[in-house]
Amino acid sequence: LVVGIPKETFPGERRVALTPSNVVILLKKGFKQVLVEQGAGAAAEFPDAAYANAGATLVDTASAIWARADIVLKVRGPSAQEADSMRPDQTLISMLQPAQNKPLVQKIADRKATSFAMDMIPRISRAQVFDALSSMANIAGYKAVLEASNVFGRFLTGQVTAAGKIPPCKVLVIGAGVAGLSAIATARRMGAIVRGFDTRPAVREQVQSLGAEFIEVDLHEDGSGAGGYAKEMSKEFIEAEMKLFKAQAKEVDIIITTALIPGKPAPKLITKDMIEVMKPGSVIVDLAAEAGGNCEATKKGELATYKDVKIIGYTDLPSRLPTQSSTLYSNNITKFLLSMAPKDKEFGIDLADEVVRGAIVTQKGEILPPAPRPAPP
Ligand code: NAD
Repeated sequence: LVVGIPKETFPGERRVALTPSNVVILLKKGFKQVLVEQGAGAAAEFPDAAYANAGATLVDTASAIWARADIVLKVRGPSAQEADSMRPDQTLISMLQPAQNKPLVQKIADRKATSFAMDMIPRISRAQVFDALSSMANIAGYKAVLEASNVFGRFLTGQVTAAGKIPPCKVLVIGAGVAGLSAIATARRMGAIVRGFDTRPAVREQVQSLGAEFIEVDLHEDGSGAGGYAKEMSKEFIEAEMKLFKAQAKEVDIIITTALIPGKPAPKLITKDMIEVMKPGSVIVDLAAEAGGNCEATKKGELATYKDVKIIGYTDLPSRLPTQSSTLYSNNITKFLLSMAPKDKEFGIDLADEVVRGAIVTQKGEILPPAPRPAPP
């Protein structure tokens, strides 16, 4: 089988779906050829020569990939034009967000193609090696702290110097899922005093084990919904947590928000009147910007300023660390592909496999209904 890697076409996207070291692995496992579009890995520091050395075949155009590959690997879902160039029986593995991209899924189905969404891989223990959402959330949390420190005018760590004693910066992280925990760990490593908040009390120990303080409200409501994911909280709980955040806003220098509820718009937790009590030069990073934002003053995709506070609403944080995110994504997608094509066995789709069934979106043109989501451990 021939695997193809086109250059990503989404504006500003710097990741690539497969790195040269994973080209070596696919060829060793019996794939006949790996086609890579010239320049596909350049923005992630994987030059064409590295792909050629790994045994890949470089091609001039994306259309050559879509015309010749049996399996196409991508980071972002295809553009409408790319989907239109799919062939019957061709297989695509990429991020797809099928619930939000119904016309695109229909286009893929119209082409009689098969597709898998990396963002639909069930989050069960066995599938952790394929879990690109967690890989990307981990990077987003790390990069959020670096982006904040880039526009923050002081050190994050405290220091005693001949020129004076510098207090450590205080960071509040709202939402302690994968991205939030990564932000907490990064800010701690940089020497900040860190506080974490989440509606799921189950994460308290994880927050504390990273050396941060877990802050709580005086209202007992467990935010763990079906399968351990977050559920929407009562109006009373949201009011209580916002009161807590208003008090915190006066004290902390950096707020990183990551609060999300699957399938719902992000809860608005940081209001303009909270920003007004923050110290000049403070920074907010809104990792929920793509889903509508946790902060009232967020401008999606931009660095905004409101009353001397900078608000970062970038939605491309993994792409801003392109080598790392490509490496992890490539490992996830390679392992997922190999799970369907173990050595010496033909590529085959087994719908009885919970992970395959969870991720498949179309099969030879048929749109499969989404599989029920299993419970995370
Ligand atoms: P997410 O990105 O969907 O959400 C981020 C966090 O926001 C969650 O922790 C959520 O509780 C929190 N949140 C929601 N509303 C909030 C509010 N009003 N105030 C404060 N915080 C709020 O989360 P995620 O990183 O995708 O993790 C979700 C679940 O999936 C967790 O239970 C996690 O352990 C689990 N998970 C399992 C695996 C696996 O086993 N393979 C992998 C990743 C995640």
